[in-house]
Amino acid sequence: MTDRYAVIGNPVAHSKSPWIHTEFARATGQDMEYGRIEAPLEGFARAVEEFRAAGGRGANVTLPFKQQAFRYCTAPSARAQLAQAVNTLIFDRDAVRGDNTDGVGLVRDLSANLGRRIAGSTILLMGAGGAAQGALAPLAQAGAARIVIANRTLPRAQALAARLAGFDVTACGYESLAGQSFDLVINATSAGLEGAVAPLPEGVFARGGLAYDMVYGRETPFLALARAAGVEVCDGTGMLVEQAAESFFLWRGVRPDTAAVLAALRRR
Ligand code: NAP
Repeated sequence: MTDRYAVIGNPVAHSKSPWIHTEFARATGQDMEYGRIEAPLEGFARAVEEFRAAGGRGANVTLPFKQQAFRYCTAPSARAQLAQAVNTLIFDRDAVRGDNTDGVGLVRDLSANLGRRIAGSTILLMGAGGAAQGALAPLAQAGAARIVIANRTLPRAQALAARLAGFDVTACGYESLAGQSFDLVINATSAGLEGAVAPLPEGVFARGGLAYDMVYGRETPFLALARAAGVEVCDGTGMLVEQAAESFFLWRGVRPDTAAVLAALRRR
């Protein structure tokens, strides 16, 4: 019988995950199908249960349910516990395993696809929502020399920084960034979706640095600002494909090649 997977979110019509996983399945010869489920805002758990009862083997979880998915799963991975957010559910007979592949997807895109060295670099992580929560520990564990989390709502950034002991991670508001520059400036805010950008001081992008926006498929004000400052820029398409590949590996035990899918997605 064909194994079933889906992405669960609200809204979810825009999601590229069904296309990406269908390509992975075709390329690796896996007998599976992957759909999309728009759960009511108050109905995440019920939507998951209905999908499990109908034979679903696993799911991706997207906005706004990643924190609910963390609470829902019965066996969160170490990565999910650090992030306190889950984007991948694996349905076993009695347990629901939960994992977070966003951070590892980002790290792979930065290092394998973009050739950036994370070890020893200074990183500004903008935002403290689900995406930043998923990214923080993998960036620190990849050897970043220093990470500063800046967020509009400072206590959220402080709470996130406090979760990660043993690394040089601090939190601040955007106004405290004056005079500092970073090798990697990673925009994990959703400001770009509203055509906005968090207030960054001049000089925040180090010479030869990279500005990375997790938002994908559009020119955001953040990318425009970075381009004007003369640094290399990249959107989150590669992260999207790499986090999907890690989910696929968790479900199927097969690691799909991402290069062709990423190239095709960029052309679309
Ligand atoms: P979220 O949990 O809703 O968090 C949103 C963050 O953006 C918060 O830190 C929020 O600050 C900040 N923010 C929103 N509007 C802002 C503005 N006008 N100025 C300054 N800060 C603002 O969302 P999320 O799950 O973290 O997702 C963030 C973005 O990452 C989304 O655009 C999502 O599409 C993208 N993403 C991409 C991938 C990928 O694979 N490429 C994966 C995951 C997420 P406050 O705390 O002050 O509200």
